[in-house]
Amino acid sequence: MDRVMKVRCMQCGAESYGRRDKRFCSQDCKNAWHANRREELRAIMGEVNGALRRNWTLLVQVLDGAYRKQVKRADLEALGFRWKYITEIFVSDSGRTFYLVYDCAWSKLSDEEVLILRKGWREQSHET
Ligand SMILES: [Zn+2]
Repeated sequence: MDRVMKVRCMQCGAESYGRRDKRFCSQDCKNAWHANRREELRAIMGEVNGALRRNWTLLVQVLDGAYRKQVKRADLEALGFRWKYITEIFVSDSGRTFYLVYDCAWSKLSDEEVLILRKGWREQSHET
């Protein structure tokens, strides 16, 4: 038999008696709490996803059909590129670090320049 104990509602804070795992005083409070979590997640994901989408779009625009291009860091930044928004970090056998944004990537060449690539560039070029 489940023990009845004093529990506090996670939404409104009201105390009531119920099973140890009871988390809400009512269905309305339960619905409101879950709606708040969904809204919270939507806001957080929206900001990050938007920045990633923008970065990807800029890389594709700058590549302009090419699979590989050398560009000035400042030029990418001027377009609104945000370096910290990446989807993966990849280190090649030669030790070069690539920062992926979905199927595109960038890699630092110098303080001024970066190499940008799109998936498939190895098949399109004999360079490494
Ligand atoms: Zn409540």
